[in-house]
Amino acid sequence: MRILVVEDEPRMAALLRQGLTEEGHAVTVALEGRGGLCMAEAGGFELLILDVMLPGLSGFEIARSLRARRIQTPILMLTARDAAHDIVKGLDLGADDYLTKPFSFDVLLARVRAVSRRGPIPQTVLMEAAGLAMNPATREVTRDGRRIDLTRTEYAILEMLMRSAGRVLPREILIEGVWGVAAEIESNTLDAFVRLLRAKVEEPGQPRVIRTVRGVGYALGGETP
Ligand code: CA
Repeated sequence: MRILVVEDEPRMAALLRQGLTEEGHAVTVALEGRGGLCMAEAGGFELLILDVMLPGLSGFEIARSLRARRIQTPILMLTARDAAHDIVKGLDLGADDYLTKPFSFDVLLARVRAVSRRGPIPQTVLMEAAGLAMNPATREVTRDGRRIDLTRTEYAILEMLMRSAGRVLPREILIEGVWGVAAEIESNTLDAFVRLLRAKVEEPGQPRVIRTVRGVGYALGGETP
């Protein structure tokens, strides 16, 4: 991943550069806030690691400024202060995760991996699969340009199917994702919602897009088994 580190403390900056480079990342370091913001705005990074306390502009200000310009590069905030207030503020301003100094490098790497797995946060990504398009920011769903209005639950099911397009999602995973881990729903509740979803997504004469995989679950698109 291409990572921009904005950190004014030289030792910490060097440590981050070395450790992340050893993990195979391409690391750029900015030592103060304004320069960091300029580089982040110029783009080309897949992750920003921002210290909060910086000369020039704080990490908070950088995050706010980027999000205000709809730059959605994932942000991992480093804070020396573990006040809950700071953490909440950082997340509220658009950070995706935070780490309190001092931290172990293993923990940092785990967070970096988690953020990179999540990828860019959804606002920028229009998901497309099997002729369907979904904008997670506006929750707008279309098929071949036709707008489809879904309820919250129908949307949640379709979003999971689209994120795993072409692969079979087991029933338990779908239920856990839509209703939560501890959810106790009737077994046929999922099927009922999928029926409703199909009725909206698959108009008469259109090819089916949601496949039932008997005894396993559902899939969007892909091969018929
Ligand atoms: Ca600092």
